[in-house]
Amino acid sequence: MPPPAFAKPDNPMLNQSQTPMNNNDIQADVVVVGGGLAGFACALQAAQDGADVILLEKLGEIGGSSAMSGGCLAFAGTDLQKAASIEDSSELLYADLIEVGKHENDPALVRAYVDHQLETYDWLKQAGVEFSPVMETSSGQSVPRVHTVDPADTVRALAGRAKDTGKVRLLLNTSALRLIRDAHGTVVGVSAEREGNTFTASGKHGVVLASGGFCKNPELVHRYAPQYDDAVFIGGEGNVGDGLKMALLIGADCRDMIYIKGTYGKHPTDETNHHSLLAVYKGAIAVNQDGKRYVDESISYKLLGDACITQPYGATFQIFDHPIMQSGDNAVRILDIERRLEEGLVIQADTIEALAEQIEVPAHVLIDTVNTYNGYVDAGHDPDFGRAHLVHQHGELVRIETGPFYAYPSTAAVYGTYCGLCVDAAMHVLDVYGDVIPGLYAAGEMVGGLHGAAYMTGSALGKAAIFGRIAARSATRI
Ligand SMILES: Cc1cc2nc3c(=O)[nH]c(=O)nc-3n(C[C@H](O)[C@H](O)[C@H](O)COP(=O)(O)OP(=O)(O)OC[C@H]3O[C@@H](n4cnc5c(N)ncnc54)[C@H](O)[C@@H]3O)c2cc1C
Repeated sequence: MPPPAFAKPDNPMLNQSQTPMNNNDIQADVVVVGGGLAGFACALQAAQDGADVILLEKLGEIGGSSAMSGGCLAFAGTDLQKAASIEDSSELLYADLIEVGKHENDPALVRAYVDHQLETYDWLKQAGVEFSPVMETSSGQSVPRVHTVDPADTVRALAGRAKDTGKVRLLLNTSALRLIRDAHGTVVGVSAEREGNTFTASGKHGVVLASGGFCKNPELVHRYAPQYDDAVFIGGEGNVGDGLKMALLIGADCRDMIYIKGTYGKHPTDETNHHSLLAVYKGAIAVNQDGKRYVDESISYKLLGDACITQPYGATFQIFDHPIMQSGDNAVRILDIERRLEEGLVIQADTIEALAEQIEVPAHVLIDTVNTYNGYVDAGHDPDFGRAHLVHQHGELVRIETGPFYAYPSTAAVYGTYCGLCVDAAMHVLDVYGDVIPGLYAAGEMVGGLHGAAYMTGSALGKAAIFGRIAARSATRI
C-alpha cells in the first residue's frame, strides 16, 4: 500500500520536520481529532506548552460547526462588559449556568468553565480573535455577556497561530476511525484513513477527541430525541458522531442525551439562512396553527424549540407589529427581521385579520390572542404563561398594535447536540464506572455535562475554547 498523502504539498500547516515512523504511521505528543474551535484551541495550547501535535480533520477544510455558528461566546467580567458598565463575575456566570441547566449539569464542569473562562477570553484575544461589544439580547443570562466574533475568522486565527508554532501538523481529508490502546488499556493513538489509505497516528501523551456533536446524523439524534425527527438539522458536515462512537466502543460513558434540543426560530423551508430569527426576544408572541399562544416566549430558545416541536406540524408563527420589527439591534443576526423581510420570508398584512388569513389560522382566534396578550402587557401580568420580560430577565413587554403586522413561520433546528462523553474537570474521558480511561481526553461539543437540561447562549463555543485548552494542558501534563 502506498504511503498516505499526509497533507497536500502546499499545505502550510504541514510541519516538514515530522516524518512518518514508517511508510504509513505517524506520531506526535498529542493527537487531536477534529478541526473546529475545540480542536484548534487544544492544538494551539498544547503547542504553546511545548508539545508536538497531529490534528486530524476529516473534511477538506477546517471549521466544523464552529465556523458556521453565530459566533456568540459567554464570558463574564471582561473589559468589554466593564466598558458597557455591565457588572458580571465568574460566580454569577456559575449560578446562571446551573440555573439554566436546571441543576442537571455536572457542577465540576461548570466550575471548570467559569474558572478558566476569563483567561481563555484573554488568550483568544492574544491569538488575534476580535470581539464585538457585548450583545444585549441573549437567553439564560442575568446580565448581558455574549461576546461576538466572526466564527470562521476565529478558527482561522487559531489555526494560523498553531501553524506559526511549527509544532502542529494538520491533516485534512483524514478521518479518525478507531481508538488504539496498549496492553494496559491506555489510549495511545487512532487508526485513520485518508484517500483510501489507513495508517496509525500515535500520541505519546494520548488522544483528544474534539470531533464535535452529531447533529448531522438524524438517525443517531432519533435514538435519543425522537421528538426532533421533523426538525431541521444544521451543522458541520462531518459532525455525525464518530468520536462518540469510538469512545463508546472502548467503554466510555455519556450523559445529557435526553436533553438534545432544537433552537426555535428557524424558517421551515428557507435553505439560505442557517440562523434562527428570534422576533420573540424583541416582543413578538409565538402562536400555533390554531392561532393560540403556547409558551412563555422569553425563555431559552432551546426550550422554545422543545415547546414548538410538540405543536401541530412542529411549526408555529412569531407574530409582531411594525415597531417591534424596527426595535432592537438589527446588526445582530438573530434579531435582524428587516433582512428576512427583504428576503421575502416574513409574511405581512395591514391587519391581524388579514395576517391570519394569509397564514391560514382562524382570524377570530388570532385577534383574540393578540388582544388578550395586549391586556396582559397593560396589566403587567401574563396569567397564561407567566411571561414577564422580552428575554430572560431583560426588556419590558410591548403591545402588538401598530400595523403593518407580520408573521414569521418558525420551527426548531438542531444546531448541536450539547450532550456526550462523561469527562472530569481535567477533560479525561470517564468509563461507565466513572474511572478515567487513561490517555483519552475530550473537548467541545462532544462533551456532556456542562449544559445539563438547557443551554445558555454562547456556552457551546465557550466550552469548545475553554475545554479545548484544558484538555491540552491535561494531555501535556502541564
Ligand atoms: C448554525 C449554528 C449556530 C451556532 N451558534 C452558536 C453560538 O452563537 N454560540 C454558541 O455557543 N454555540 C453555537 N453553536 C454551537 C457551536 O457552534 C458548537 O457547539 C461548537 O462550535 C462545537 O465546536 P467543536 O470544536 O466541538 O466542534 P466543531 O466545530 O463541529 O468541529 C468538529 C470537527 O471535527 C471533525 N470531525 C468529525 N469527525 C471526525 C473524524 N472521525 N476524524 C477527523 N475529524 C472529524 C468535523 O469535520 C469538524 O470539523 C452553533 C451551531 C450552529 C450549527
